[in-house]
Amino acid sequence: MLPRIEHVRVGNRGDALKLPVVSLASPVSGPAVVITGNVHGDEYIGVTAAHLLVDRLQHDLGRGAVHVYPSLNQNGLRSGNRGIGRDGPDLNRRFPGSRNGDFASLLALTIWEDLAARKPDLLIDLHADSGQSIPYAIIDRAVRKRGAARKRMDARLCAHAEATGLTVLHEYPDDLYLRFGLDRSLAGATVNHLGVPAVTIEAGPRGVVSMAAVGVMVNAVLGVLADVGMVEGGFEPDPSRRTDGPWRRTAGPQTTKPGVFEPALAPGSLFEPGDLLGRVHELQGRVVEEVRAPSLGVVVSWIDGCWLEKGTVVATVGVPEAS
Ligand SMILES: [Zn+2]
Repeated sequence: MLPRIEHVRVGNRGDALKLPVVSLASPVSGPAVVITGNVHGDEYIGVTAAHLLVDRLQHDLGRGAVHVYPSLNQNGLRSGNRGIGRDGPDLNRRFPGSRNGDFASLLALTIWEDLAARKPDLLIDLHADSGQSIPYAIIDRAVRKRGAARKRMDARLCAHAEATGLTVLHEYPDDLYLRFGLDRSLAGATVNHLGVPAVTIEAGPRGVVSMAAVGVMVNAVLGVLADVGMVEGGFEPDPSRRTDGPWRRTAGPQTTKPGVFEPALAPGSLFEPGDLLGRVHELQGRVVEEVRAPSLGVVVSWIDGCWLEKGTVVATVGVPEAS
């Protein structure tokens, strides 16, 4: 089948944006899935993964429809910034958007209206983490649902995340989830405002196109599509996958002294309370701090960088969901 290419127009002045949407529809009816990349402008893995998925699904989509948005944040993509252009706001805290706000709110609203009109059964949002990370899938918190309805949504979120074949992390607990505005991320708003399941995939580093990470991401998306019967199945889980969860995403420990940070464990490693996570060195080499684990957990990603100021969070870690 051939892709159908449309453009979502944002704004009507000289600075108007045209966001491409590439759709593929199988003659066999089935679920509609929206795949979005590059909401964070410096996360490029999803852009190239989106392109490769379109190529692949032209031949392999056996059922349903897929709508692919390779880049939601062209200003961030062109300037290499996470937000909208240089020092711009984080588009991924503005959904479902508003007509009465700044450009970020209008961009969010325009994207939101376009994707909601496609009546998705599932949204897959593609991100990147750091240069030293394991790939993972995130489960949002369905904070607006109660009782049995919440259990049903949680079960669907869990199943889609597991189908990626990656390590699965639950988001921050409800109170922090709301405080951090994660119900206004694209995936969070899809779950909480649209009532449609979403899965966030994080693979590879920011700021570069790593084809290894692109391959991991494509495989993870195909795993999800296979799980809902849209492509033929049989995708191997990623070798980095940890199945000893459930894990919850949280910020790792902070440094108490400035200096050069040296991680002590590979991403994906399990640690126990008191284990050495890393050392802070003065420039001449002397160790001025040993950063130790406050609790049991798993290293998800080390911070990008070398010289860390005092009070810097050194890692994203997974801790037991029940803790
Ligand atoms: Zn991101």
